[in-house]
Amino acid sequence: MSKVLYEKDIQKEVLQEKKVAIVGYGSQGHAHALNLRESGYDVIVGLRPGKSQQKAEEDGFDVFPVAEAVQKADVVMILLPDEHQPTVFEESIKPNLQPGNAVAFAHGFNVHFSQIVPPSNVDVFLVAPKGPGHLVRRTFEDGSGVPSLYGVYQDVTGKCKEVALAYAQGIGSARAGVLETSFQEETETDLFGEQAVLCGGMTSLVKAGFETLTDAGYQPEVAYFECLHEMKLIVDLMYEGGLENVRYSISDTAQWGDFVSGPRVINDETKARMQEILNEIQSGAFAKGWVLENQANRPEFNAINAREKKLQVEQVGRELRELMPFVKQPLQEEQKNKQ
Ligand code: NAD
Ligand code: MG
Ligand code: MG
Ligand code: MG
Ligand code: MG
Ligand code: MG
Repeated sequence: MSKVLYEKDIQKEVLQEKKVAIVGYGSQGHAHALNLRESGYDVIVGLRPGKSQQKAEEDGFDVFPVAEAVQKADVVMILLPDEHQPTVFEESIKPNLQPGNAVAFAHGFNVHFSQIVPPSNVDVFLVAPKGPGHLVRRTFEDGSGVPSLYGVYQDVTGKCKEVALAYAQGIGSARAGVLETSFQEETETDLFGEQAVLCGGMTSLVKAGFETLTDAGYQPEVAYFECLHEMKLIVDLMYEGGLENVRYSISDTAQWGDFVSGPRVINDETKARMQEILNEIQSGAFAKGWVLENQANRPEFNAINAREKKLQVEQVGRELRELMPFVKQPLQEEQKNKQ
């Protein structure tokens, strides 16, 4: 088995002498900045003027333009949207790095697919939490944490790995487990996971189930509870105790249905599609499409996004959740206020 590291395996001193600049204050940025500060590290924030800047200042951080934050810091964690990172890196980060500084990422996409080429005189590492940024924060506050992968791309100081580990510990990940990876492995598995299973696979499964029931004339509200709402309750059981725990809690009728029907929905054909998706990730074809989509101002992304918001499963869900105030989390409220 791979070696998973915890609190006791990690030394904090290497990062205590350094100033960390968190560039970007979104989903991951706010969580890293707050968690690191509460772990005793010296943290500043680099941003352009705007909403995020106001939020970081309200949270008590010294906020600087990106170039200035990079000048002041020893470790620069880049938590901008992936598609904006290359431009900001060329214009504001690279010219302000000192030899022996460290540049860090929470996802290997830009380095692995050559959209960012770091100078050869700095350390380069990644600490990639395996969970949404808001949960990196929420779990830290609860006393737990989200596991992270860490990886070293370039070590010029001889201390890069130790700094990466201390960073992962500082955001709370050593409470849950920290595992070594490479930029290639993190990038390819992260893209595969979000496309085939966690995001693409799950939303498509929910939509297909909902539409099968409503097309057959069943009430949309019933279909929503069955195919979307209950998903979270089942996933919680899986998170706590694996597939076995789901099967312990469901009825034996449900468990028999799981055994005989599950493999008819997700079958060898589905796995062949998953393999295709993985091949396109590995070949760089997916990355090229996403880079070009952004260069073209996202025509297809925006068209699909608008269409998806109008789906019946979304409309009925909005109405039903209004009547279940307890399901509303701060995250969804925040989203509403942004719109
Ligand atoms: P985000 O969109 O939530 O936040 C981006 C931040 O960057 C915002 O504060 C925004 O104001 C700022 N910003 C955008 N453009 C800027 C510019 N040109 N100059 C200065 N600031 C700018 O981003 P995110 O989802 O937290 O993603 C950050 C990184 O973390 C990405 O590499 C992503 O792949 C990785 N990651 C994200 C998650 C997640 O939960 N969202 C999980 C794991 C890894
Ligand atoms: Mg997003
Ligand atoms: Mg991920
Ligand atoms: Mg990802
Ligand atoms: Mg049931
Ligand atoms: Mg059972």
